[in-house]
Amino acid sequence: MSFVKSLKCRECGREYPKKALYVCEYCFGSLEANYDYDAIKKSLTREKIEKGPRSLWRYRDLLPIDGEPTAGLNSGFTPLVRAKNLGEVLGVKELYIKDDSVCHPTCSFKDRVVAVALTRARELGFDTVACASTGNLANSVASNAALGGFKCYIFIPNNLEQAKVIGTLVYGPNLVAVQGSYDDVNRLCAEVAAKYKWGFVNINLRTYYSEGSKTLGFEIAEQLGWRAPQHIVIPAASGSLVTKIWKAFSELSKLGFLENELKTKIHCAQPEGCSPIATAIQAKAEIIKPVKPNTIAKSLAIGNPADGYYAKDVVLNTGGSAGIVSDDEIREGIKLLARTEGIFTETAGGVTVATAKKLIEQGVIPKNESIVITITGNGMKTQEAIQSSVGQPVHIQPNLNSFEEELKKVNAEFLLQ
Ligand SMILES: *Cc1c(COP(=O)(O)O)cnc(C)c1O
Ligand SMILES: [Zn+2]
Repeated sequence: MSFVKSLKCRECGREYPKKALYVCEYCFGSLEANYDYDAIKKSLTREKIEKGPRSLWRYRDLLPIDGEPTAGLNSGFTPLVRAKNLGEVLGVKELYIKDDSVCHPTCSFKDRVVAVALTRARELGFDTVACASTGNLANSVASNAALGGFKCYIFIPNNLEQAKVIGTLVYGPNLVAVQGSYDDVNRLCAEVAAKYKWGFVNINLRTYYSEGSKTLGFEIAEQLGWRAPQHIVIPAASGSLVTKIWKAFSELSKLGFLENELKTKIHCAQPEGCSPIATAIQAKAEIIKPVKPNTIAKSLAIGNPADGYYAKDVVLNTGGSAGIVSDDEIREGIKLLARTEGIFTETAGGVTVATAKKLIEQGVIPKNESIVITITGNGMKTQEAIQSSVGQPVHIQPNLNSFEEELKKVNAEFLLQ
C-alpha cells in the first residue's frame, strides 16, 4: 500500500498516474511524488519508525513504492559520527559526520536511490534497468541489478576512475563508456530511453529514484534525537540530494516528528572545476549557466544540472550559502577528514569537508551552532586523486637494525620540527 496519490508537476501542478513518467506534457516541468500526508499522519509515528528495519526501509511509508521493498534491503542506516577531533580543528562546538562512505552494498549514498528505483522498476514490470552515471550510480545499479536478476545497461563518461569502472564491471552489466562528459552521456541516454522500454533509473524512473535521497535526511534527524541540525553541508552534482534532504526535514516537520522548529540552513558544496549551482547562488543570479567540467571530483562533474534551479532555491530560501573549492583544497579536505576522524572519503567528500571548513572560517557558519557534514562516497574508489599527495611508506630490510635506522630518522625529523 502506498501513500503516493499521484505524480505532480513541480511547475504547473498537473497530476499524472504513478507510472514511469518524469516530465509534464504541458510545461516540461519535472514530476514529483505527491503524498497524502494526512493519511501518513494517521498511520505513522516515530515509535513505528524506530521499531522498523535497520535500513532506509524504516521510512518506507514516506517512499514511493506500492508493495514490499525488493532492492537495497540492507542499504542506509549509516553512522552519524560526533566529530570531536575535526570540530576542534575547525573550532566548532557541535559537529557531526553523516558517513555514507559505508553504505551497503557499494559504499556511496547512491545505494539509497537505487534501492527505491529498482523496487519501483520491478513493480512497474521492467526486466531491464539502465542509468547514466558519473561513477557511483553505475556501481550501485550494477550491484543491485545482479542481485535482483535484471538485465542492465550502464552508460558512463570514458574518463572515470579505475575503481569505479572495475567496481561496475565486476557485477557483469553491459557497460558503455561514452566519448564525452556526463552531460553528453545524459543527452545520449535521453534518446536511448525514448526508444527502448527500459527502466532508466535517473531518467524515466527519476521521480522514484530521487525520493530515495530523502532517507539521508530522515536518518540524520532521527539520529540527532528527532532534531534537524542548524546547518548542513551537502555536495551537489545534479542538485537532487540538496533538494531531497530539505524535503526530508520538511516532511518530518509537517508530520510533527521534530523536537525543534525547522530552521536548518542548507549549504551547497561544489568543486571549482564544475560549480554551476554554487556560482549562481553566490552571485544570486537568476540563471544557472552550464559549464564544461574539469575537476578531480568526477562524481560531481555535471555541467548542466537537472535540479540546479530547485537546489539554488532551497539554499537561498533556507538562508544557506554555497562554497566552491579547488582541487588542492579537495585533496586537503580528504586528508583532513582521514587524519582527524579516521574516515577515508572520495573526492566528493573532500569537496564537502573543504567547503565546510571554508564557510566556518569565513564566519558564514557560526562556530557555536550544530553542523552536519554529509560524506557521500568512499575514498577507496578515487585513490588516483590523492596518490601523489599522501607520501610513501619507508622501505627497510627485514631486521630490527634496519627498522631502528629508520626510527632514528623519524625521531630526528620529529625533534627538528
Ligand atoms: C551523485 C553523487 C552526489 C550528488 O548527487 P546529486 O543528487 O546528483 O546532486 C554526491 N556525492 C556523491 C559521492 C555522488 O556519487
Ligand atoms: Zn507542468
